[in-house]
Amino acid sequence: MNRNDELFERAQISIPGGVNSPVRAFRSVGGSPRFMNRAQGPYMWDVTGKRYADYILSWGPMILGHGNPEVLRAVHEAVDAGLTFGTATELEIQIAEEIRRLVPSIESVRLVSSGTEAGMSAIRLACGYTGRNKIIKFEGCYHGHSDRLLVKAGSGMLTFGHPSSAGVPAGITNDTIVLEYNNPAQLEETFKELGDQIAGVIVEAVGGNMNMVKGTPEFIHAIRDLCTKYGAVMIVDEVMTGFRVALGGAQSVYGVTPDLTMLGKVVGGGMPVSAFGGRREIMNQIAPLGPVYQAGTLSGNPVAVTAGLKTLQLIQEPGFYDRITATSKRLTEGLTKAAADNGIPFTADYCGGMFGIYFLPEVPHRFADVMKSDDKLFGRWFHQMLDAGCYFAPSVFEAGFVSIVHTDEVIDQTIAAARDAFASLRA
Ligand code: PLP
Repeated sequence: MNRNDELFERAQISIPGGVNSPVRAFRSVGGSPRFMNRAQGPYMWDVTGKRYADYILSWGPMILGHGNPEVLRAVHEAVDAGLTFGTATELEIQIAEEIRRLVPSIESVRLVSSGTEAGMSAIRLACGYTGRNKIIKFEGCYHGHSDRLLVKAGSGMLTFGHPSSAGVPAGITNDTIVLEYNNPAQLEETFKELGDQIAGVIVEAVGGNMNMVKGTPEFIHAIRDLCTKYGAVMIVDEVMTGFRVALGGAQSVYGVTPDLTMLGKVVGGGMPVSAFGGRREIMNQIAPLGPVYQAGTLSGNPVAVTAGLKTLQLIQEPGFYDRITATSKRLTEGLTKAAADNGIPFTADYCGGMFGIYFLPEVPHRFADVMKSDDKLFGRWFHQMLDAGCYFAPSVFEAGFVSIVHTDEVIDQTIAAARDAFASLRA
């Protein structure tokens, strides 16, 4: 039995399913999750010493790759200055100013510790601001695990076949309306019927939790127009896409100005920092200025904020997003060709440093398309790749990520491994 298997057996005694977040389990692909103990650059090493090229990157944050020396130096200094004060700090102002500069729709921003908190708070704020109760979300989008948003969600909920969670009273989700992604006509109908009751619409403009599914420009702009028309709050969840698909996030790609934005992952540079922010008039409704309550013991933690702030500074290097986009392009084109050469139905797509790989004949545009993925074939491919030292997300419903230190050499080695894996699927 290898050490990963041993640890997995031991983990399951003390931790439900052996993991602290379900997406880390290998349940849909089988086998033991890998227990990592070191990471550097584009690589992670597990407890057996095996090296993996990492295409999960802690589910998105590590856009600079692992162990960036400037981030680590700044974090070490911050640790020496004190782990947490529970008071205001200048660092919080600095990161807030940086966020405002990079994402101009954000006039005022509050830091939290997870994307879940950002989503929960943004929804509460939208309801408090409008005095309405209903929110619209889209099937396959995941906005964290707060009760009101755990309806037909993506990510681990899809992977394990429970898109709506047990333990969430119906009374709490009665006011959550779930519509089809990329279906502006359905959205318009819903607004016509219920417009004066809708507090807000929450959306991943580039969906990353039902694999990667890009919103069509028509759909994203319809959300903006309808929210404006009916006085609802448009919330763009950029926890995954923020500073990942472009420096200004998905909203800059679509040229859309949301009322509120959620940030996470990259904004914390690998530490627990997330945020929600937007129009000042709306943000001023939050305590202590307004009646919408929101708080957090470790919100704006100085060590975590330091990692985020340094990361935000480093991603502004000229050419950063051109380079990371070229990396995604090289990877997805290489994988597609390797699959086609072996007659495997496979497609891929990318947006900045984020990509989708699909065991499908065509790139999906809707949740229903993704559901047709060949997960058996994917599971076999996934394990071949893992054996070859390439770590992709263990589910057909997750997006993938590259970092700025995924060199052409790393990508080409991965493509070569994938070519062998596709060939063995054919055999
Ligand atoms: N929103 C999106 C788009 C996400 O991808 C995630 C997590 O993957 C979340 C929200 C929740 O963030 P967290 O896991 O930090 O609570």
